[in-house]
Amino acid sequence: MESRVCQRERRSWATIDLNQLVRNYEIYKRSLKVDTKVMTVIKANAYGHGDSEVAAALQKHGVSMFAVSNVDEAVTLRQAGITGEILILGYTAADMADVLLEHNIIQTIVSEEHAAALAATGIPVRCQFAIDTGMNRIGLDADNVDACERIIRTYQEKLQICGLFTHFCVADTDQEACVRFTGEQVQKFRAVVDSVADLNLSYIHCCNSAAGIFHLNKGVEFKGIDRIVRLGIILYGLKPDYSNTIPEEIKPVLTWETSVSMVKELNVDETVGYGRTYKATEKRKIATLTTGYADGYNRGLSNCGYVLLHGKRAPIVGRICMDQMTVDVTDIPEARMGDRVTLLGRNGNEIISADDMAQLLGTIGYEVVCCISNRVQRFYI
Ligand SMILES: *Cc1c(COP(=O)(O)O)cnc(C)c1O
Repeated sequence: MESRVCQRERRSWATIDLNQLVRNYEIYKRSLKVDTKVMTVIKANAYGHGDSEVAAALQKHGVSMFAVSNVDEAVTLRQAGITGEILILGYTAADMADVLLEHNIIQTIVSEEHAAALAATGIPVRCQFAIDTGMNRIGLDADNVDACERIIRTYQEKLQICGLFTHFCVADTDQEACVRFTGEQVQKFRAVVDSVADLNLSYIHCCNSAAGIFHLNKGVEFKGIDRIVRLGIILYGLKPDYSNTIPEEIKPVLTWETSVSMVKELNVDETVGYGRTYKATEKRKIATLTTGYADGYNRGLSNCGYVLLHGKRAPIVGRICMDQMTVDVTDIPEARMGDRVTLLGRNGNEIISADDMAQLLGTIGYEVVCCISNRVQRFYI
């Protein structure tokens, strides 16, 4: 990464274990009982892990299919030397068609209107149609198979249509109603796929990380639409949902650490930070850390999260500031200026994962890692 001053083991830094990433990919792939290809999803800077580095490691390992969210991410990968297929999962305005063609990027078509706009450019962009089977976000409405068939055939002649995909909305939940809904999505998608089977489209896919291990492995109902799994969150060692059990050897890839800048005593009735939201009811010792919400450390963890140092948990006290935060180290007498502190990862026998942090925040691990800002320098091992 380009940077003037290296902050490794200094202010706020993340370490990404690319070997663990590749291991996660392999373990996930081996856990699939069906012979399926894997497209690795590296949108949003590879879920905060660094897209060029992650994609390069996967490409070196033989991965040749990548998915991103937008054209900027796609071009970044090409500039990083990624030669495999790159699919943009979201909308790109038709006036970017020349960029898509120039970099040999596959664009998702989100609607008939979008297809028309892309075709009107006269540029033969490679495309895949999103098919909406219940997410109601993007795609042709699978409830009208005839219209889907007509639209796909029409644009097959005008654009280079190379695939169809759909996306599940409750594949990470094993409640009966959710399992049934996913089954219905599968059926709807299959009906559209079957209606254009003679086109022999190369890329037919529907499973995200969760669906791959929780649904694809369970039955034969996927036959014909199970050629590719789009692997996102589990590649990074996190769970689609906190309740999920994923293969044990799959581990988080990213560790986030920071430093202690100072340690001080707090007398009874003294408060800490903006808004004076924490008040000492007895003598306490606090440590100030060199990470704040501008680094992507969620301010919602004020007075409720914890960090790890010297193998122990230190609760966050007071509000998280832009560049700093404060933790209670009364029970960690060895805490000193310059100490290394774990925000995400293992420290001694203690671990805090992005999934654990997400639980405290009422969100998902995806958001925790995506939000680690650019100010946090990434280092690769
Ligand atoms: C992000 C995304 C994925 C990956 O989902 P995970 O839950 O991270 O595996 C797959 N497909 C689409 C369309 C996506 O947007």
